[in-house]
Amino acid sequence: MSFVDTMTFGLGSPSRTGDAVTLRVAGEGTVLAEVTLASVNDVRTAARTARKEQRGWASTPIAERAEVLARAEALLLEHADELQVGIARETGSVFGKARVEIDGSVNELRAGRALASIPDGEVYPSPLGSLSYSRRIPVGVVGLITPWNFPVALAMRVIAPALVLGNAVVLKPDTQTPISGGDMLVSLFLKAGLPAGLLQSVPGGPVVGEALVSNPDVDMISFTGSTAAGRKVGALAGSLLKRVSLELGGNNPMIVLDSVDIDSAAEAGAAGSFTHQGQICMSTGRHIVHESVADAYATALVSQAATLRLGATSDPETTMGPIINQAQIDRVADIVDRSVAMGATVLTGGTAQGQYYPPTVLTGVTPDMPAFSEEIFGPVAVVSTFSSDEEAVTRANSGEYGLSAAVFGSDLARARRLALQLRAGMVHINSITITDTAVTPMGGHGSSGNGGAVGGLSNVEEYTQVRWYTEQDKPFDASF
Ligand code: NAD
Repeated sequence: MSFVDTMTFGLGSPSRTGDAVTLRVAGEGTVLAEVTLASVNDVRTAARTARKEQRGWASTPIAERAEVLARAEALLLEHADELQVGIARETGSVFGKARVEIDGSVNELRAGRALASIPDGEVYPSPLGSLSYSRRIPVGVVGLITPWNFPVALAMRVIAPALVLGNAVVLKPDTQTPISGGDMLVSLFLKAGLPAGLLQSVPGGPVVGEALVSNPDVDMISFTGSTAAGRKVGALAGSLLKRVSLELGGNNPMIVLDSVDIDSAAEAGAAGSFTHQGQICMSTGRHIVHESVADAYATALVSQAATLRLGATSDPETTMGPIINQAQIDRVADIVDRSVAMGATVLTGGTAQGQYYPPTVLTGVTPDMPAFSEEIFGPVAVVSTFSSDEEAVTRANSGEYGLSAAVFGSDLARARRLALQLRAGMVHINSITITDTAVTPMGGHGSSGNGGAVGGLSNVEEYTQVRWYTEQDKPFDASF
């Protein structure tokens, strides 16, 4: 079976009329598949179809909609082994990370099904003696734009709740992940019994993305990606008065206090910076470490880096895969090189090796250096020091982002005091910045988002709107 057939349960790619692209195994160059992307016209057709099909889906009992999610969950688990290999090859990740995407998606499907068991309205006091109540109704057609780094899980965190709550979804994955992030998901749901047209994929670049945002049949945009693109999407959707959910970039701090178990903190810090080659929005971008333990902590990070094995994603022994593309390698190298020129020290790594960038530990980093202020999106542990708790909070809160943060320390009361002062949508005490679940509200503050949250009950706010109803026993008496 071809790669496409394996990933699409034998259903193959739908016909599209955009550019043809050759997908290659990230880091290796072997051809994976030839794929046709979507055109602007395909977006129009998909949105129109979604609009038409959504009406019937909204009146399908929610228990039946939840059943589709249950079947999708069973299919994902049944095919997890082959899907894991496919996701790893297309996204340039190790098998473990690909498995995290599948397990995370299973959890999103379970959390989505749970939404079928909660009340969907409220009854209000009514001075006129009428029945006065509200019900939550679907938003309609959700336009979903996703990045390449976690194409399956980041799509599923929207698809599962949006579908169960009665919406249709038009998904626009990145051009680098059109199969795992698009066609695979559509096929999964079709196979699970979702009527055609309620989930469609229109892979493409910014032009296709903007066509989706501005399409009149699309009621809401859910965007996950960089802050720069998010600003454009937010501006366009805002000008059309569309609901828009923006989950954007981060440069996440981890504060390491002086009262800490160095080895366990460094293990968590290394996982935070090196997992999926640092290509995670919640990656630990800055390790802000008390000056009295900074040397020991940096040494422990170097030991953690030494345990990682760089290599092809097809090798099960590999624990660190390639960087997604050359532009991203150049960006990581540029940020590291400029910071070194300004006085930072490379303790390990620091030089690209072809398509790979080794785990790197950079010390002596100050807030004026790019390694401190920019989102690197590569496997670089940036170590900066502090001498007072106030300075730690100031350093952690500097910059425009506010996605995730962590505080490590054995004095829980002190760690909690600091945690309360951090600007971030998620703060974890004695845990990693890349913590994620399907049932908790996740969202960025500052330039990491537009203030909303996805996950658990927050999804009801995201993918429904409120309608107020009244019912009178007798016709309204309009004679005053
Ligand atoms: P990106 O912004 O370049 O692309 C993301 C998606 O947006 C892609 O599908 C792309 O085609 C599309 N896009 C780009 N410009 C667009 C435009 N003008 N109109 C419509 N669509 C457009 O980001 P990326 O490089 O794919 O992903 C990495 C970034 O995503 C990082 O900054 C990372 O922090 C962020 N991210 C955030 C989260 C989160 O939950 N907050 C999760 C994962 C990644």
